[in-house]
Amino acid sequence: MSNTPRPNSRPKRPQPSRPANNRSTGNLSPKPYRLIPFPKDTSGNLLALAKARPAGLDRYKASYYTGKIALQLNVHTATTVLSGITVLGSDIASKIPKDSLIKTAISRSGQLIIPGSSLKGSVRSIHEAITRSCICKVSRGYKLDKQQVRIKVPEGYRECSPEKKDIRDRNVELCPSCQVFGAINCEGLVSFSDAICTQKAAIKFVPSLYQPHLKKADYYSNVEENVVGGRKFYYHFTNSIHEGEKGINTQLAVSESCFVGSLQFVNLTKAQLGGLLVALGQDQNHQFALKVGTGKPIGMGSLTVDISEMEIWTRSGAGNRDNGIIPDLRDRYTRYTLPESNQLTGEALEQFMQQMIQAAHRELIQERQLQQLAEVLKFPTDRAAPSGVY
Ligand SMILES: [Zn+2]
Repeated sequence: MSNTPRPNSRPKRPQPSRPANNRSTGNLSPKPYRLIPFPKDTSGNLLALAKARPAGLDRYKASYYTGKIALQLNVHTATTVLSGITVLGSDIASKIPKDSLIKTAISRSGQLIIPGSSLKGSVRSIHEAITRSCICKVSRGYKLDKQQVRIKVPEGYRECSPEKKDIRDRNVELCPSCQVFGAINCEGLVSFSDAICTQKAAIKFVPSLYQPHLKKADYYSNVEENVVGGRKFYYHFTNSIHEGEKGINTQLAVSESCFVGSLQFVNLTKAQLGGLLVALGQDQNHQFALKVGTGKPIGMGSLTVDISEMEIWTRSGAGNRDNGIIPDLRDRYTRYTLPESNQLTGEALEQFMQQMIQAAHRELIQERQLQQLAEVLKFPTDRAAPSGVY
């Protein structure tokens, strides 16, 4: 690789600059986010990543869980995953003035979608924060006020990056999130489908967002060396902001619409399946909403997840003591309908999920981090989105 810096592939977003005097006088609105600290032991030392060998995708394993979860995502504040394409308003809406521009959302056959990758990213970041997982896909450098700011992750929390040789020899150890969601050159055990919006898209004004406020001291655990102090999560707000001097009309899903999708999982342990459910906000004692797409600081993208149905394809999940897996798989592909015991709904589903979640609490979840995160992502909320400089 050459040493020439890679040109920034993304076009630079026009962002309003914060009024300079606000920085010193502290007239900013309360921060719209909070950092969830990394897990520590009682003496304040960072806990090591909980690395282990993933079960792998090469074959179905009888003592693990394989199946599919139906997801309904309820939109509580305007939600959009932008396509990157801006069009003339008259191209997509008749009531919009001819010369006005509109940022479009990702859609398929006229219906808005949340790509599986966006949803996976949002759930993964929660999963990372509540387990002893590495810091994944972090931007290490920012340009701020014409100055390059380098961000460091705490010692021992670097992204899992297994050696090619170890991958070949199936000798890879990964942190809890990389085991489930995947790491460089290692496929994960879950995959999210695109979620499709069941209602028509709307068009609303979305103000430009401020740049990340990286100079704030509490962003770092060690200010001199720019070591990050935790993982950043935006609060939910009662509503999203749709006014301001700078901004653009944007295609989005409005509150009270919903997206429908699914996720598939292969060879998860009880605790791993439970951890996934906790990260989806399904723990009865720690319910919360996800934040997805653009406009998080101004209250956009709040979604709660409903799970009304789950298929378990392996015998272990069907509650059968016989560990033979092959007949069950054969059943699956030779029958048009699944055996009833593999399809969980209602009370049986609720009991099954809570059983998995309890296993996750025993083996995987960092209780303090989950409590703090559930507080940030609590929904409904009475917090109002910041309309001024934040
Ligand atoms: Zn990792």
